[in-house]
Amino acid sequence: MAAFEPELSDEQETVRDWIHGFAAEVMRPAAAEWDEREEFPWPVVREAARIGLYSLDFYARQFFDPTGLGIPMAMEELFWGDAGLGLAITGTGLAAVSVFTNGTDEQIGTWVPQMYGDANDVKIAAFCSSEPDAGSDVSAMRTRARYDGAKDEWVIDGVKAWATNGGIADVHVVVAVVDPELGARGHASFVVPPGTPGLTQGQKFRKHGIRASHTAEVVLQGVRVPGHCLLGGKDRLDERLARARERANGGERSGNAAMATFEASRPAVGAQAVGIARAAYEVALDYARTRVQFGRPIIDNQGVAFQLADMRTRVDAARLLVWRASWMATAGRPFTAAEGSMSKLFAGETAKQVTAQAMQILGGNGYTRDYPVERMHRDAAIYSVFEGTSEIQRLVIARAISGMPIR
Ligand SMILES: Cc1cc2nc3c(=O)[nH]c(=O)nc-3n(C[C@H](O)[C@H](O)[C@H](O)COP(=O)(O)OP(=O)(O)OC[C@H]3O[C@@H](n4cnc5c(N)ncnc54)[C@H](O)[C@@H]3O)c2cc1C
Repeated sequence: MAAFEPELSDEQETVRDWIHGFAAEVMRPAAAEWDEREEFPWPVVREAARIGLYSLDFYARQFFDPTGLGIPMAMEELFWGDAGLGLAITGTGLAAVSVFTNGTDEQIGTWVPQMYGDANDVKIAAFCSSEPDAGSDVSAMRTRARYDGAKDEWVIDGVKAWATNGGIADVHVVVAVVDPELGARGHASFVVPPGTPGLTQGQKFRKHGIRASHTAEVVLQGVRVPGHCLLGGKDRLDERLARARERANGGERSGNAAMATFEASRPAVGAQAVGIARAAYEVALDYARTRVQFGRPIIDNQGVAFQLADMRTRVDAARLLVWRASWMATAGRPFTAAEGSMSKLFAGETAKQVTAQAMQILGGNGYTRDYPVERMHRDAAIYSVFEGTSEIQRLVIARAISGMPIR
């Protein structure tokens, strides 16, 4: 397994520069328009597919990069381009990762290609875990999946909230309760194939930021999926539930399907936040060098220059935490101090802080839609909410470092 190397190889730099070109030439000029339209940016995603940037092949290559830096490098560059468009391009990844994490080889081979489609017929996917009354507390989930043994089908009923690409996706991955007695340990994940009757889009949310990314409720009414759509298969589920029942009787804790997906994806989400923070920092640095007040560039004032020094320090520190966590995940190192959560927590808070500082450095201009930092600041706000709020990351870290059941 590769050692941790906080530097990209020549080959990785070439890929990064290629993504950067797309981010600068295609995403940046389109960002403000799609933010205002608040619609899924199909033309941008199709262009990404045309050049091979939105493709299973590209993500698989980054995902299996032995250094662990492929995914964070790609995420940072795309979200440097724009976060709303970036999430439209990468949102499918959460559903794909859940199949990689919980599915059999056959399920991975069947479903993941259908989530991306190809350049001539682009597809997208959604991962649906959160519910109106089950956000941070996944054990409050109500969506039920019941097994109909006579037909070897699962019947799913419930309402999912906040699903990125929800309702417009071709493939949905839905987490549902299969054994209510077991709380979060009684969950399983299901693929809902394209065009399955009973799955509809509920409310589409109008958001503060990342507005080019589609976020909606997904309503499931008597949705029937074949037995082979249960990720991991029935035998594995029965074994897992039996183990969970034994542990429950012995008072032990264990993880669940949704948490396994979130844990694997947290450093990648942190990398997105690094991209937004770096973008805002760069705009602020340029502005501070050229904006003249009192007869000199505003960066001549320590009050401004020191803010930029802090912003750059935080961005670099966030990237290092993200790269470390991503390398650890790839190298199979256990997150004994919740290093994945640490990276997401610090990078998310950095994006919020750095974009706010950037707005301040741009003065009145920073507050307008004529400059991108206002949008970046709105986009950054989601990074202390989704994929586990900052409070939940702190809870996970505190439990990991103390071994105590902190509440
Ligand atoms: C734009 C967007 C996209 C999303 N995409 C997806 C998606 O694709 N798939 C999906 O399944 N979900 C998705 N989510 C859902 C997201 O993961 C949840 O919003 C998040 O987990 C928080 O849940 P909640 O909104 O119900 O907040 P709540 O859990 O109700 O939390 C409210 C507040 O209470 C705090 N809090 C709660 N419990 C504790 C505690 N024990 N200790 C301290 N503080 C606590 C929280 O930190 C937060 O500040 C998305 C959300 C948004 C907004």
